[in-house]
Amino acid sequence: MESKEPTAITRREWIKMSAVSAVGLVACVTGTRGRTDDEATLTTNGGEMVDYDVVVIGGGPSGHAAALMLGRGNRRVLLVDAGAPRNAAASHINGFVTRDGVSPNEFRRVAREQLAKYAVTFQERWAHEVRGESGNFEVVFGDGVITTRRVIVCVGMVDELPDLPGFRGLWGAGIFQCPYCHGWELKDAPWGFWASSPEMATHALLATGWTKDVVVFTDGRYALPAEASVLFAQRGIRVETRRLKGFVSREEGGASTLAAVELEDGERIACVGLMARPPQRQTKLVAEMGLATDEMGLVVVDSMGKTSRAGVFAAGDLCTLIQSALGAAAAGQRAAAMLNNELLMNG
Ligand SMILES: Cc1cc2nc3c(=O)[nH]c(=O)nc-3n(C[C@H](O)[C@H](O)[C@H](O)COP(=O)(O)OP(=O)(O)OC[C@H]3O[C@@H](n4cnc5c(N)ncnc54)[C@H](O)[C@@H]3O)c2cc1C
Repeated sequence: MESKEPTAITRREWIKMSAVSAVGLVACVTGTRGRTDDEATLTTNGGEMVDYDVVVIGGGPSGHAAALMLGRGNRRVLLVDAGAPRNAAASHINGFVTRDGVSPNEFRRVAREQLAKYAVTFQERWAHEVRGESGNFEVVFGDGVITTRRVIVCVGMVDELPDLPGFRGLWGAGIFQCPYCHGWELKDAPWGFWASSPEMATHALLATGWTKDVVVFTDGRYALPAEASVLFAQRGIRVETRRLKGFVSREEGGASTLAAVELEDGERIACVGLMARPPQRQTKLVAEMGLATDEMGLVVVDSMGKTSRAGVFAAGDLCTLIQSALGAAAAGQRAAAMLNNELLMNG
């Protein structure tokens, strides 16, 4: 027969043990981090004062998601953003479930509003350099230095837009980087596909999912691989090899959008949308941080979002060719959770 006494003793012991553990835990937390709730600063394991647990550099979808996760993880966070989001030129973010069609400004406004209840500070400033090491980094700004235990880099990529007349003005408004993001609004219309290299040109096939009227513009810069030419001919994709003079816009609903692509001899090919794959590069900050990159120039991270530099995590476009707002947000959230684990385990 089962005796009740051991259970009663166990319960008493358990209560005693819990009290001891709670005291131990408090001692451990205050002992290692030296923090009380109302202190303005934290200490690292080494006992040196730092301003934040984490500085998140870059306030796009990945940075906001990281800051939210860390805020909810009861961390003291600084989110800094230079105020130049990659999709600044686009009027909508499409394909973000529950946010389909939201404007980038509204996305950021809501994100910051929701961060307000956590210990997350937002500042609009450029980070120029990250010095120091895990537990004690210095993030250098034009007007000062902030210290932090960890860093998440969420600064996106730089699109190197071609110097073709009209291109920059139509980027995000008739000229787009991704058919999933902006193809649905232009479906069944005549599309152009501008690619800076033969490798990029092969992506034109994707466009046929939205329209059967596709012209690939090589701008006279390269010859298409034979297999691509055969495939394009089979799918009804035309190839225009003449040099480009520029992009012609038209007004629609008070905004400029694409009307045609103009060739060197003045001929205009009507296009309502142009998908373009400009080359990308890392920001100056990332290029100078000494993070390992792969052969495509993307920052290498492991499944936890850790970079090659201890204590530095990264998330979003700078780590992947599959670039989207939701993908970046998911990566930011994951990296933040893993960073928080690391802080809990190693301080
Ligand atoms: C024209 C266009 C339209 C797009 N449309 C869509 C769409 O409809 N749907 C979709 O899912 N995706 C879209 N995308 C892709 C999407 O915008 C990106 O995948 C997404 O924004 C990546 O998020 P991120 O957080 O990695 O970087 P970003 O959004 O690029 O944010 C990085 C931030 O870091 C800041 N920053 C950079 N360097 C520093 C520094 N040194 N210090 C401080 N801050 C810094 C920048 O100012 C920027 O605000 C579009 C992209 C473009 C170019």
